[in-house]
Amino acid sequence: MLSPNIYGLLGYPVKHSFSPVMHNAAFAYLGINARYELFEKSSEELKDFLASLKSKNIRGLNVTIPYKEKVLNFVELDEESVFLRQIKAVNTIVLQNGIVKGFNTDIPGFIRHLNENIDPAGKKTAILGAGGAARAVVYAIAKSEAKDIFIYDVDKIKSESVVGMIKGLFPEFDIRAVDNIGQLQINEKDLLVNATPIGMKDADPCLIKEEMLHKNLFVYDLIYNPPETKLLTLSRKAGAAAVNGLKMLLYQGALSFKLWTNNNPPEEVMWNALQEEIKKCRKQ
Ligand code: NAP
Repeated sequence: MLSPNIYGLLGYPVKHSFSPVMHNAAFAYLGINARYELFEKSSEELKDFLASLKSKNIRGLNVTIPYKEKVLNFVELDEESVFLRQIKAVNTIVLQNGIVKGFNTDIPGFIRHLNENIDPAGKKTAILGAGGAARAVVYAIAKSEAKDIFIYDVDKIKSESVVGMIKGLFPEFDIRAVDNIGQLQINEKDLLVNATPIGMKDADPCLIKEEMLHKNLFVYDLIYNPPETKLLTLSRKAGAAAVNGLKMLLYQGALSFKLWTNNNPPEEVMWNALQEEIKKCRKQ
C-alpha cells in the first residue's frame, strides 16, 4: 500500500485540537489513504518545517495560533485571496503542484454558520477580542454590510489594528475601537461575538454583565469547548438567541478538506466525530 498523504495542524501549542478526529473520520469514511496529524513547532522551526512539506508528503495544513500571520511570508496567494495580506490570517495551506498556497476558511466558515442564524446586513455589532479569529470575523461581518462594529480588546493596539484593517478595505464602514466593555453599548446592539478565549476555563468569568444582555440580541461565542459557556447561559436567560462555535469549526474544516482533497466533505460524519470528541472531553 502507498504511504498515506499527510495533512495536519501547525501551531504552538496544538495538543487540544479537535481537527484530527474530524478530518480522520472524513478520510476513513471516504476511503482516502490519508492521515491528519498535529505539528507543534516553535517559531525557530517554522521556516524549515514549511520547506520540508514535500519531502514529508504533507499535502495540506491548517494553521493556528501563533502562526496565522507569519505563514503569509511562506505562501502564495490566489488573486481572490490577496486580501488575506490585510486580514493577516491564513488558516489553510495547500501544496499544489509543488507550490505552497495560502487560504482562509475561517471567514466563509463563520459567515455560513452566522447566516444560518442571522443576516448580519444592517446589524449593529459588538465584538469582544481582536486576535486572529476576530480579524476573520470582523472582516466577514463588515463585508456582509453590517451597520456598524464596535470592538473591545484588553490590548487597544490590537483593536485599533483591526479598525485600520477594515478602514483600509471598506473606507466608509463605521468601526470603532472602544476602551471598555460598557462602551460596546451592547444594550443597543443586534449582534455580539465573543472572539476572546475567556470562557474556555471553568474558572473564567463572564465578560458581559447580565443587564447588558437583551432579547433582541444574537450572541455568537466562538468557543466550542465547553459547548455552553457562561456567556451563552446568561444570554439565553436574558431571552437572547445564542450559539457556540462548533459549527464554525466544522464548516472551516469542511472547506479546508475540499481544498486539500477536491472531495466533497462528508459533513455529517465530521459533525458526529466532533460531537463525540466534545462528549469525551466533558467526561474527563
Ligand atoms: P487570540 O489571537 O489569542 O485572540 C484573543 C484576543 O482576545 C487577544 O487579543 C486577547 O488579548 C484578547 N483578550 C483576552 N482576554 C480578554 C478580555 N478579558 N477582554 C477583551 N479581550 C481579551 O485567539 P484567537 O485565535 O483569536 O481565538 C479566540 C477564541 O476563538 C479562542 O477561544 C478560540 O478557541 C476561538 N476560535 C474558534 C474557532 C472556531 O472555529 N469556532 C476558530 C478560531 C478561534 P491578549 O492577547 O492581550 O490576551
